Amino acid sequence: DHLVNQIAAGEVVERPASALKELLENSLDAGATTLSVDLAEGGSKLIRVTDDGSGIARDELSLALSRHATSKIASLEDLHRVRTLGFRGEGLASIASVSQLLLSSREAGSTQAWRVEADNGSIHEAEPASLSAGTSVEVRDLYFNVPARRKFLKTPATEYAHCEDAFKRIALSRPDLALTLTHNGKVQWRLKAETASERMRAVLGNEFADTMLAIEAQAASLRLTGFAGSPTVSRASREAQFVFVNGRFVRDKVVLHAVREAYRDVLHLDRQPLYVLFIELDPEAVDVNVHPTKTEVRFRESQAIHRFLFHALNKALAETRA
Ligand code: ADP
Ligand code: MG
Repeated sequence: DHLVNQIAAGEVVERPASALKELLENSLDAGATTLSVDLAEGGSKLIRVTDDGSGIARDELSLALSRHATSKIASLEDLHRVRTLGFRGEGLASIASVSQLLLSSREAGSTQAWRVEADNGSIHEAEPASLSAGTSVEVRDLYFNVPARRKFLKTPATEYAHCEDAFKRIALSRPDLALTLTHNGKVQWRLKAETASERMRAVLGNEFADTMLAIEAQAASLRLTGFAGSPTVSRASREAQFVFVNGRFVRDKVVLHAVREAYRDVLHLDRQPLYVLFIELDPEAVDVNVHPTKTEVRFRESQAIHRFLFHALNKALAETRA
């Protein structure tokens, strides 16, 4: 099973940032409202995510580290209406198979925190720990036991930049969360709970925030909100297209195409502007179980989605020109 986990890790944990993403998603699924992330050496030396979520009971700790153990779906039908960010039950097992992982947690209502350590495929007995609430996952020395993968890690600065991207996506998607990010002991980001537009400004900067267009559209069970940038404003971040489907960051061709077409139609510009779009729809109308990293989705009615996005953006962009 250790080998199976390591193979899965190759897909789920491509680099420190992908491990960070899995940990952050787990914290959100646990209902956290405050998250702190500590990284060292771009995450290759240390990734620690501490949350104030629901926590994990002592006797479930080692289960959380086993493959295909998820508390989030109970049946195949549930897979067709996933409301959580995780559901495959392989995130922690994969990360644990290629790192030194320490999971500490204090279940809500419990007076004692417990921790388990995963060490090269075996999970140690639970030991008492000190933690005031929630869960803390510490991932050290990613790929210490897989030299071939370790070789593919880029410089700490590059790996840090990817971690920061993962952090920003979560920060944009959940303005109601308070988040901090430190790297090598230095605070890089400290965000308090705020409105969506304050968060967008904090993460993407004033130039974007001052020139963007707020988007809001609704048709039947489809809802679009967010911020569309002016194509003349230079990009304020490494990443320029932030698309969230039911709160999940995705890269989706249908969405990208619809937005590009809307910009081209109204502004006759091929350049891709910066934008942040939140699409909400019935979870049954979108398949999120397409790839282990869960950044791809498949819309059941992709043409209807395309039409809706194109028209909503087209209308909003045209109004600014009128
Ligand atoms: P998945 O997220 O797909 O369920 P994971 O391997 O990422 O799988 O996590 C396994 C299980 O561990 C989760 O289903 C959840 O019950 C528990 N868990 C992981 N992280 C946390 C956390 N931060 N807070 C509470 N429970 C957690
Ligand atoms: Mg998970």
